[in-house]
Amino acid sequence: MGCNCTVYNYCPVCSQELVYKAIDGKQRKHCHQCDYIHWGECSIGVGGVLLKEGKGLIVQRANNPGKGRWTIPGGYVEQDEKIEDAIVRELREETGLTTETVSVLAVRDRPQDLPGVKHDIYIVFLLRYLGGDLKPDLVEVSQADFRAPEECKDLNIAPLSLHAIKEAIAQTTEEHSTPGLIRKEGVQMVGSLSELYSMP
Ligand SMILES: [Zn+2]
Repeated sequence: MGCNCTVYNYCPVCSQELVYKAIDGKQRKHCHQCDYIHWGECSIGVGGVLLKEGKGLIVQRANNPGKGRWTIPGGYVEQDEKIEDAIVRELREETGLTTETVSVLAVRDRPQDLPGVKHDIYIVFLLRYLGGDLKPDLVEVSQADFRAPEECKDLNIAPLSLHAIKEAIAQTTEEHSTPGLIRKEGVQMVGSLSELYSMP
């Protein structure tokens, strides 16, 4: 499911054989012909916390990795997709609910710690309900439900998902109007699709 690195033996640009070369303090695969450098690979995942009356939305994964396990809804970000569009899309696909993002609640970083595993970044959003009826897609997820943290004790639930729901409940019941990082307009950035998330 997109977590494993591709081992490049040939240049993906010009098909010349790649050879290791010391670049920026590391041995990296390099193409003598066109100067392509394989810098490594990342995968970006998103998760969404949607709260309703002190309960968080969780889904049961229908496929591996993690088949049978409960998590907050989410998935992988497409190459040309904004992270907030990705989580809204995943919510709609997996649960039938239309949502919008409120803020970025957390970022989980996992650099490569096993051979062949990509550097994996997972961004957790707080979401706001806009419409739709809860209906698991029965493809990616087999069940979907709103549960309070104390109702998750007997579930096989990902600890990070439970943590995110607890944090979101704690943050939104206190005086914080918008917990987390919010999308900011008006800062010029390189790239037509670029977005900036920063402190409110
Ligand atoms: Zn090349």
